[in-house]
Amino acid sequence: MGPSKLLENKISRAVDKPLFNSLSASLQKLKLEGYLVGGYVRDIILGRPTKDIDIVVVGSGIEAAEQSAADLGAGQVKVFKNFGTAAFKYKDTDIEFVGARKESYQRNSRKPIVEDGTLQDDQNRRDFTINAMAISLNASNFGQLVDPFNGLEDLNKQIIRTPLDPAITYSDDPLRMMRAVRFASQLGFTIEAQSFQAICNQHNRLDIISRERIAEELNKIILSDKPSVGFKLLYDSQLLHEFFPEIVALQGVETRNGISHKDNFYHTLEVLDNVAKRSDDLWLRWAAIMHDIAKPATKRFNPKGGWTFHGHEDLGSRWVPRIFKRLKLPLDQKMKFVQKLVFLHLRPIALTKEVVTDSAIRRLIFEAGEDIEALMMLCESDITSKNEKKVKLYLQRFEEVRQKIKDVEERDKIRNWQPPITGEIIMNTFDMKPSKAIGDLKSAIKEAILDGEIPNNYEDAYNFMLEKGVEMGLKRRHQSN
Ligand code: ATP
Ligand code: MG
Repeated sequence: MGPSKLLENKISRAVDKPLFNSLSASLQKLKLEGYLVGGYVRDIILGRPTKDIDIVVVGSGIEAAEQSAADLGAGQVKVFKNFGTAAFKYKDTDIEFVGARKESYQRNSRKPIVEDGTLQDDQNRRDFTINAMAISLNASNFGQLVDPFNGLEDLNKQIIRTPLDPAITYSDDPLRMMRAVRFASQLGFTIEAQSFQAICNQHNRLDIISRERIAEELNKIILSDKPSVGFKLLYDSQLLHEFFPEIVALQGVETRNGISHKDNFYHTLEVLDNVAKRSDDLWLRWAAIMHDIAKPATKRFNPKGGWTFHGHEDLGSRWVPRIFKRLKLPLDQKMKFVQKLVFLHLRPIALTKEVVTDSAIRRLIFEAGEDIEALMMLCESDITSKNEKKVKLYLQRFEEVRQKIKDVEERDKIRNWQPPITGEIIMNTFDMKPSKAIGDLKSAIKEAILDGEIPNNYEDAYNFMLEKGVEMGLKRRHQSN
């Protein structure tokens, strides 16, 4: 049975565009066969927006790209001779051409032997049935779906399945195991049972894949609407154990004297899903992943009070650079942002518990700076009680904290604030060389302002510095005028 009328219409609407007519004409000029293929075809059928178009050409992909770009009046063609591919940008789409090829993997090498091949050969080498469909760009059957592995059926049934034997497919290129989980998480699909079993059997093959490529798939999982789906699959298959043991260590519940703590792995996933509902920011999502990461290392049992995790926010934030480095994540401002949020993640909760002073609010605004809103989102997401009444109550208290932050911020403008007295001024006033005393004096001034002891202006801060400096036994520089 061919595809339904509905689908035929969908595909013809998608390809009935000047762009595809032009591509078709260019191919015809060269007497080459060409097809839309892979993710682009999948996303047309799913009705998902995509920017990348992949075209497979039976023959030279490079020639086809050059002709097509010229006919479209597109920009420069980038040629990757070694891969037999070429790409150019047209409007805001990236169009990539590849010559159809046949890949055979040898037992003892990660690199396949690549030869020119037919369309079918090229479809055979693709990772999943839903990624192996092609749409003809040829005049004779323009718009026709070529679907040798029933990818369409799997798309309708929402199944991730490999075209060939999954054990071989995953062993040939173990990155495909990460991709399977990534598509399951992005699309909300199920990995077919045999396929999942094959992943479980050879999760440790992931060790031949570079950390960069693993991170790329991991970040796509994290950016999906419900990232816990992907993380649970990574955990159950033990892929996660291969590159992120710290998060695996969060799993489990210990009970002593009848007192249990919560399972911090599943709690973390709930927090991550909650953040995902509030924000698309990858690094805020990473902060959710890392917020309790040091709980196992700081866990203690106190017969009176039960389980404690004192200092996990501090230790956790100090672990961030090591983990980011290993996972090949950026070690720049984004990492600092994650560290800061992990470090501060208990502070807003503390502010909901008692009568809050302006000074406590001012301190939080000062320390969180521009990231105060992100921090509030993380903390709201951190409420994962099953008791809805409790959740509601906490969220309401956070709303009150937000209001107080707004009030204090409007009054004091403490966000992005720098204390008015610099180390330089202190050194000049007391004629000192850089030393610990200067740091102490500087922070005493900052504390006095944050506590509301003195107003936030230069003059009051200067006078406070003189007083405090004398108290500390510092001598003023002899004044020449
Ligand atoms: P997206 O672009 O949304 O990340 P995609 O399916 O387009 O998803 P790409 O990485 O752009 O993924 O790859 C394009 C196509 O190339 C895929 O649809 C698939 O057919 C094929 N492909 C990519 N990576 C592999 C792989 N490791 N093994 C086999 N085929 C692959
Ligand atoms: Mg793509």
